[in-house]
Amino acid sequence: MPEPTQSVRAAYFSMEIALAADIPTYSGGLGVLAGDTLRSAADASMPLAAVTLLYRNGYFDQHLDENGNQSETPTSWKPESVLEPLDARASIVIEGRKVVLRAWRYSVHGVGGSIVPVYLLDSALPENSEFDQTITENLYGGDTRYRLCQEVALGIGGVEMLAALGHKNLANYHMNEGHASLLTIALLESRMRGRSLAKVTDEDMEFLKRKCIFTTHTPVPAGHDQFPKELVHTVLGDERTDLLEKLGCFTADILNLTYLGFRSSGYINGVAMLHAEVSRKMFPDYTVHAITNGVHAGTWTSPAFQELYDRHIPDWRRDNNYLRHAIGIPLEEIQDAHARAKEELLKEIRRVTGAQFDENAMTIGFARRVATYKRADFLFSDPERLKSIAHRVGAIQIVYAGKAHPHDEPAKALIHRVFEQMAALKNVIRIVYVPNYGMGWAQLLTSGVDLWLNTPIRPYEASGTSGMKAAMNGVPSFSVPDGWWPEGHVEGATGWDIAIKENSELHSSEMASMYEKLEFTILPMFYKRRNSYAEVMRNSIALNGSFFNTQRMLSQYILNAYFQDDKEARPKKPAKKPSEITV
Ligand SMILES: *Cc1c(COP(=O)(O)O)cnc(C)c1O
Repeated sequence: MPEPTQSVRAAYFSMEIALAADIPTYSGGLGVLAGDTLRSAADASMPLAAVTLLYRNGYFDQHLDENGNQSETPTSWKPESVLEPLDARASIVIEGRKVVLRAWRYSVHGVGGSIVPVYLLDSALPENSEFDQTITENLYGGDTRYRLCQEVALGIGGVEMLAALGHKNLANYHMNEGHASLLTIALLESRMRGRSLAKVTDEDMEFLKRKCIFTTHTPVPAGHDQFPKELVHTVLGDERTDLLEKLGCFTADILNLTYLGFRSSGYINGVAMLHAEVSRKMFPDYTVHAITNGVHAGTWTSPAFQELYDRHIPDWRRDNNYLRHAIGIPLEEIQDAHARAKEELLKEIRRVTGAQFDENAMTIGFARRVATYKRADFLFSDPERLKSIAHRVGAIQIVYAGKAHPHDEPAKALIHRVFEQMAALKNVIRIVYVPNYGMGWAQLLTSGVDLWLNTPIRPYEASGTSGMKAAMNGVPSFSVPDGWWPEGHVEGATGWDIAIKENSELHSSEMASMYEKLEFTILPMFYKRRNSYAEVMRNSIALNGSFFNTQRMLSQYILNAYFQDDKEARPKKPAKKPSEITV
């Protein structure tokens, strides 16, 4: 096996990365996307390395009492048993103190044997102060000071660590969201070789833009990292703060790290066509491109479907494009594979919760990080209507899962409301909320249910990826036309949309569409026209599984963003108003 550290030419920075089900260094979609990106990069033998933080406390274990009240405990995991310790050390300055970081390596193995190394930074060293030792301990924990210190560790510490490991002057640095933006400061400092940041020129910024790629994931302004100026001064010091000011990263004394990413990147993208459109409205001074997310096919396909694809489409793991040929797989084989995946899910639900689900009943899945805009309780908008549909048209059973961030009280209240509905509908609709949603449950749920429900408030879902996992497993989506779904939706062919009627009250028009389609289209097809339903399942794989994967996504990053300096005809797409960023 070649030593992977020799060929690294690009680095991917992410605040969270979902490496494996038993490594709790992620909280949701952002981390899963990062992990899937690296898995596909390893498959494609891309010369990539990744940087994130270690999070010894993990992202928490979720406990739910009988009323749906969530409590949390730290997840115990042992980095030393799954990661390789490295001798390299990086030294950075936070709040005027020297902070030393070490790194642990995780190797992502590709289908052909290539490796993408992931460096997890760790500040728990005896030479650091007590507070500094905790900087890399908790994912999305602590106050804004803690968060800013973490982002210094990730961005500045990450560049320093890569250099200590011999990965210098890489062709590209990819920021997965604004949490990683401070890496640009480290790159500038290294270019300045000890000269003051006050001397940074337009040329230096051009140098930076040739290297940097920024992916934004959040369609709401409040979702972008923001820090008060006084805090920035304390944590970063005057020189760096002055530069951030010159670069126009402050609005009304609040630092917005998305602006830093934007100002420093030659390529900026949103994560779905619709999301890029929304982002361009939010940031009209920039060219925001679109590269729609995907999922890693091998990771998110159930064992039953893996066997099926191995039999019919042997090369699908190496080249996901071949999944298009799923269109020729006999319907009964799709139905059989799905029945096996469903059995696995129902068995695990029974083992964990005791609930006995019916293998023949329409099983709807809804599992994602609990955030109010995702509207976990939307299906219960009119419980009487839902009851009546289940009663008259055919049985419905529903599986929920999802963690609320420990400090997100409205999200916790949402879980509570789902539990209330579970109790209220008890004798008509079987509903279960499985605790501790993570990669393991996501694999079982997205492959084992019959219909994947998605009800975000449009346009708040930047992309969403769980519906793509479902598609990989022949599970159709029933979704509000948000995120990736306008690109993947062909009505009645790959799933159904929860239509939004123009000029009518949003909530009520979505509600009407949801109940009407369940009652008159989806349930009747599921129960009475089994082959038609299986055709929708098969189309989901052939049309959406073959496209909404991270292999296609990465190929788009390579076509449009990565390694462009190697090419003669680099499409120069400067920010629309370069004058604005003159320093
Ligand atoms: C895929 C995944 C997500 C993302 O789901 P969305 O549909 O994008 O909200 C979140 N958490 C876990 C554990 C996942 O596997």
